[in-house]
Amino acid sequence: MATDIKKIRNIAIIAHVDHGKTTLLDKLLRDSGTLKASEMAQERIMDSNEIEKERGITILAKNTSLTWNGYQINIIDTPGHADFGGEVERVLNMADGVCLLVDAFEGPMPQTRFVLQKAIDLGLKPCVVINKVDKENCTPEEVHEKVFDLMFELGAEEWQLDFPTVYGSAKNNWMSDDFRNQTENIEPLLDMVLAHVPAPKVSEGTPQMLITSLDFSSFTGRIAIGRLERGILKEGMPISLVKRDGTIMKSRIKELHTFEGLGRKKVQEVIAGDICAIV
Ligand code: GDP
Repeated sequence: MATDIKKIRNIAIIAHVDHGKTTLLDKLLRDSGTLKASEMAQERIMDSNEIEKERGITILAKNTSLTWNGYQINIIDTPGHADFGGEVERVLNMADGVCLLVDAFEGPMPQTRFVLQKAIDLGLKPCVVINKVDKENCTPEEVHEKVFDLMFELGAEEWQLDFPTVYGSAKNNWMSDDFRNQTENIEPLLDMVLAHVPAPKVSEGTPQMLITSLDFSSFTGRIAIGRLERGILKEGMPISLVKRDGTIMKSRIKELHTFEGLGRKKVQEVIAGDICAIV
């Protein structure tokens, strides 16, 4: 559980299907030591949703969190499909930066334009990962140039066009500032996130949270997921739930959870800037 906002990073990941997102997240969770031994046994962890498996696309946005070097990095998955337009915007609102993952052979794909456009418009800092540089005949430098052109075309501002890039092979478990210089791990990617994605900005005042998605548990009931914008939430605290039509319902926080690895962890308190689930 994060207790210092400066130690939180919220990053959304944007990737075209098959460019290696699942493989990369898997390595990130393993390398950072976040995954428990039981989870280590499972291969390809992120695509747990059955429909996704069938269609091979990411539909439901999910949160993952890893701790590394004293930082909590919340990774927000984005739907790889423009059909989920409303969801894309809500999900990106939880992030302070985006990580665009691109295949070093295929380059950026038109399907990722929509989400990237939203991220740029929302003023998020982009970081780029050029993956699969182990592939024969791949062209990492050209792909980097194409990513730059794409962001320029989408109206990125100068500070966004000045994006950092790491190159590597998620499959072979390495990332590097230079694709000719293979490393031993994917830490350069984590370093890039810590160095370039800002800590969450929060406003002063009483607790306020924008609910991004809903979940349901047959044991505990309805669960609201979102990023706490202001204040501190505590278990048992009375809250007001503002519905879509503006009506206000008084309620109380039964349980609070933050994200940890692929699961959630019950906590007593959540600080502004963090992403949490409220029962
Ligand atoms: P996702 O659809 O973006 O989640 O992509 P996956 O992680 O499922 O990867 C798609 C395919 O690309 C799988 O067969 C992976 O083994 C392969 N793959 C992932 N990363 C790399 C890489 O760095 N190099 C190579 N050659 N293949 C990779």
